[in-house]
Amino acid sequence: MFEEANPFESLQEQIDDAGAALDLDADILERLKHPERVLETNLTVEWDDGSLERFKAFRSQFNGDRGPYKGGIRYHPNVSRDEVKALSGWMVYKCAMVGIPYGGGKGGIVIDPKEYSEGELERITRAFATELRPFVGEDKDIPAPDVNTGQREMNWIKNTYETLENTTAPGVVTGKAIESGGSEGRVEATGRSTMLTAREAFEYLGRSISGATVAVQGYGNAGWIAANLLECNGATIVSVSDSSGAIYNESGLDTQAVRHHKDDTGSVIGFNDADEELADEELLTLDVDLLIPAALENAIDEELAHEVQADAIVEAANGPLTPRADDVLTERDVAVFPDILANAGGVTVSYFEWVQNRQRFYWDEDRVNEELETVIVTAFEDLVSAYESYDVPNFRTAAYVVALERVVQAFEEGGTFP
Ligand code: NAD
Repeated sequence: MFEEANPFESLQEQIDDAGAALDLDADILERLKHPERVLETNLTVEWDDGSLERFKAFRSQFNGDRGPYKGGIRYHPNVSRDEVKALSGWMVYKCAMVGIPYGGGKGGIVIDPKEYSEGELERITRAFATELRPFVGEDKDIPAPDVNTGQREMNWIKNTYETLENTTAPGVVTGKAIESGGSEGRVEATGRSTMLTAREAFEYLGRSISGATVAVQGYGNAGWIAANLLECNGATIVSVSDSSGAIYNESGLDTQAVRHHKDDTGSVIGFNDADEELADEELLTLDVDLLIPAALENAIDEELAHEVQADAIVEAANGPLTPRADDVLTERDVAVFPDILANAGGVTVSYFEWVQNRQRFYWDEDRVNEELETVIVTAFEDLVSAYESYDVPNFRTAAYVVALERVVQAFEEGGTFP
């Protein structure tokens, strides 16, 4: 199912499509299709038994025209230079799409964290943070959590940076725990922006999210919160999945109860109120009103795209459709609302966290959620306005048009140096 599309080539194709709609000069476009720099480093860590192990790690700083580089750090055995470059580029266009003053970055370590103890993960994280120290900072580059990293790793990175710099600088990373300078509402933010995008999208399509049937691939942080908030808005969540498979209930799953079951057993499989269990591909091709991919990139390839029966897709995951799948879905009139808007809640509340860190003044959860709603609803209006005013085939290209225009404007306003 997971077609091996090179994510960096996918990103470049998306930028080319938007550049063509904006009639941008090729030389400007070329600059915006490559990272400004990529750090590739080898981390050697000594284990308790005295043995040494080497890990490859990357940090890509794609573009800083609109502000400090911003983006997560991923721990996964499939992390590669091209994947990190692509993810850092998507961050540039995501931040520009929702109008927050950041550029884009991304990092990762080639590691399967499940194979290491907490102490070992702390050592490897601190080794990476030490390598990153000259490149990161509150006004330079601000890491955040991504796949297989969370508050714990961010707290370690912050502590390493502050210890080495002999200062306090909570805004050097976001996604921290509350007592370490995190923000209320950060954990739920990605699922919340997915729900807000789905709500706005259905309204734009002349339908209501209340009563809509929904399938969600991936029941981690982004997927479960999106499912839960959509259920709270009256949607019927008929199917959800994780890496073990999918569950289905025609009259709707209780998302909280599924979450408790997954917490207890490690998987959604075996949930007692499911009518049946499905393969992941079956979830992706269910006849539902809304499909939310919330697992990993390239989940829907060209072949599967022909089988998709949902009317609309809202992308909680980064890059869940291959470019060819995107073409097929455009031809088949399936409305796809892109990741750089739908999952931008994470980076938006990261921005709120950083603002609170800089001001040393903290907001309550209601304020965070209200400010997030304003950002996402405004960005949705900008998306629709570009979709209606430019000759673009789909909402994804419209999103890149909005974002690219903002990045190019910042670059041109700065002039060229040297
Ligand atoms: P997570 O690790 O919490 O959850 C991922 C879920 O996907 C898990 O339930 C896992 O079992 C499931 N999964 C993995 N492979 C699968 C497969 N083949 N089929 C079905 N399910 C599968 O990760 P997350 O933070 O929820 O991130 C999910 C996606 O959202 C990623 O693409 C990530 O880059 C993106 N995203 C997350 C955030 C955030 O703030 N968490 C922000 C922006 C984008």
